[in-house]
Amino acid sequence: MRQILVVEDEPKILQMVATYLGNEGYKVTTAASGTEGLDLARRLQPDLIVLDVMLPGINGLDVCRQLRRESQVPIIMLTAKAEEVDKLLGLELGADDYITKPFSLRELAARIRVVLRRTGLNQESLLEEVINVGDLKVDFARREVTVAGREVELTPTEFALLAVLARHPGRAFSRMQLLDAALGETYAGYERSVDTHISNLRRKIEEDPANPAFILTVFGIGYKFRSR
Ligand code: CA
Repeated sequence: MRQILVVEDEPKILQMVATYLGNEGYKVTTAASGTEGLDLARRLQPDLIVLDVMLPGINGLDVCRQLRRESQVPIIMLTAKAEEVDKLLGLELGADDYITKPFSLRELAARIRVVLRRTGLNQESLLEEVINVGDLKVDFARREVTVAGREVELTPTEFALLAVLARHPGRAFSRMQLLDAALGETYAGYERSVDTHISNLRRKIEEDPANPAFILTVFGIGYKFRSR
């Protein structure tokens, strides 16, 4: 069972979130201050932390910054105002996602699922820092892709898609799964944008984009990276 730590000083919100996530099948632990949250995060090593920005004692931004020095635990921030979002992003605290109050519990649960899936996929393959397949070399640590020794410039989205595919050779992904895993987005309307990214990616890494050797189309499903 996945454990989620919820850090929030408003008892009503804390209670609602804890009950909802408990019903979703998570083991939920709660903390009502930054100090307690930091302490529990260190002791329990939860799978994910939902962290309010405005907290008594150590605020959520400082808790987040501190935790990032110590671990890669996924963090979703709760912010009271939209303008705090700029601050969150500007400070590059390393939070995985944020949600603005008031929020729906369903939305929070959806964000949690996405972040857990994304970080899960990333962790699976941290072991492998370089993948070599034929002429293609993907260096994850350097975020560098070369084809026959020639460096290829990829956009962040193209790199994310290639990374997900190449790390799971032979596994077929739907467009939705690719969006979700690579970008943490699940908007149905964006599904077809995957095709555009894949087609651009093929132009850059395939010798013959019309007859691809690395990123293969799985009819009726989506795409897969060729088996090794
Ligand atoms: Ca608060």
